Amino acid sequence: MRAVVSGAGISGLAVAHALTSLGWQVDLVEVAPGPRTEGYTLDLFGPGYAAAEELGVLDAISARGRVYRAARFVQATGRSSGELPLAAFAELQGGRFLSITRGGLEEALRSTLPEGARVHFGRTVADVAEMADLRDQEDVARVRLDDGTELDADLVLICEGLHSPTRAQLFPDAAVRHLGFLTGAFSTEAPEVSERLGLTVEMSDTIGRQVGTYAMDDELVSTFTLARGTELPADRVDWLREQLVGAGPAAEALIARVPEDDVFVDVVAQAIAPRWRHGRVLLMGDAAHAVSLIAGQGASLAIAGAHALGQELATLTRPVTAVTLTQALDRYETRWRAQVEPVQDRARQGASSFVPTGRSALVLRRLVVRATRLPLVARLVARSIGGAPTH
Ligand SMILES: Cc1cc2nc3c(=O)[nH]c(=O)nc-3n(C[C@H](O)[C@H](O)[C@H](O)COP(=O)(O)OP(=O)(O)OC[C@H]3O[C@@H](n4cnc5c(N)ncnc54)[C@H](O)[C@@H]3O)c2cc1C
Repeated sequence: MRAVVSGAGISGLAVAHALTSLGWQVDLVEVAPGPRTEGYTLDLFGPGYAAAEELGVLDAISARGRVYRAARFVQATGRSSGELPLAAFAELQGGRFLSITRGGLEEALRSTLPEGARVHFGRTVADVAEMADLRDQEDVARVRLDDGTELDADLVLICEGLHSPTRAQLFPDAAVRHLGFLTGAFSTEAPEVSERLGLTVEMSDTIGRQVGTYAMDDELVSTFTLARGTELPADRVDWLREQLVGAGPAAEALIARVPEDDVFVDVVAQAIAPRWRHGRVLLMGDAAHAVSLIAGQGASLAIAGAHALGQELATLTRPVTAVTLTQALDRYETRWRAQVEPVQDRARQGASSFVPTGRSALVLRRLVVRATRLPLVARLVARSIGGAPTH
């Protein structure tokens, strides 16, 4: 069986693992000219961690991951107003929690791809409507790439992320729901900041925005920000610099070092698609069900979703027809919607409390952070971060 996967991000690479382990041939088509380096750090835990283990990629991920000791909230002066014990949360989840850069996670997934998978960088899929065609029930779809290459596929998976252009063409009823925030991130060389931070994440104790700064290794430091807003700024670098002002000593030390290129700025939003399947084309990962960074588990759900699809396809018996194939895809959609829709709901409800809107909300958060020193509260927080297994 053959699949074409559009998008070689976390979802596309994870599904390539799931399918090749069933003996499928997989062609990944990635618009970026090569591996992406820009981005941010992700926390991996719960269902995504378990799925990575079952897909046999956990060792490669762990080798590139870190466990931060604490998230320290700091005022503009540098004075600490509380700490979240991150390492203790990880321990309370049996050590099944790590932080890894998006690029590191993609590299871990890409470097362990077996022979049955090929990545075509700098390419996109053309003829989107034709490839969904199921008129010839026994036949496969012929997928043409933008350079004219033709690939036969039983299944076409759209793993193009939140702003998927193919979803826009094939699923016109799908929407991107903005949650009222902008997010940004960058990494830069700052060895002295890295040394000072060690394994502590410095979080701004600010109203209206949340800035976090942490060391990625001995040289590189990364910062992310989450701020109220819906319009992308005209000058992304300037906007990122403004975010760092008054956001704590580590963030302020980076103001002059925001790179001119290689920065990430986007709206915080969810993908809402009433259908995930069109013929033999299936939306996956953020393209189908982006939960937003407020949920903090989109990558985890992308990996676990890939594993869930693999489990449904593993039930197919030969000869596989268009009918049995699409039935398996529909079983996956029913099962996976039940997992991701509650996560989307919780993120929408929690969005407004994520960034303190005023003085009283800031004080409340300080109290909650301090309460995590109590073992019972720490256990509750760890459980709510880890979530319940989904398979
Ligand atoms: C600041 C921030 C922090 C986050 N923190 C966490 C966290 O702690 N834990 C967590 O689990 N998740 C987190 N997330 C969410 C997580 O990053 C996403 O859910 C995850 O990256 C989704 O993976 P994906 O492969 O579906 O999409 P993406 O990562 O967006 O990948 C899509 C890929 O498709 C490619 N592509 C796009 N269009 C085309 C096309 N037409 N043809 C070919 N290729 C195309 C893109 O270049 C890209 O490589 C965070 C997100 C942000 C923004």
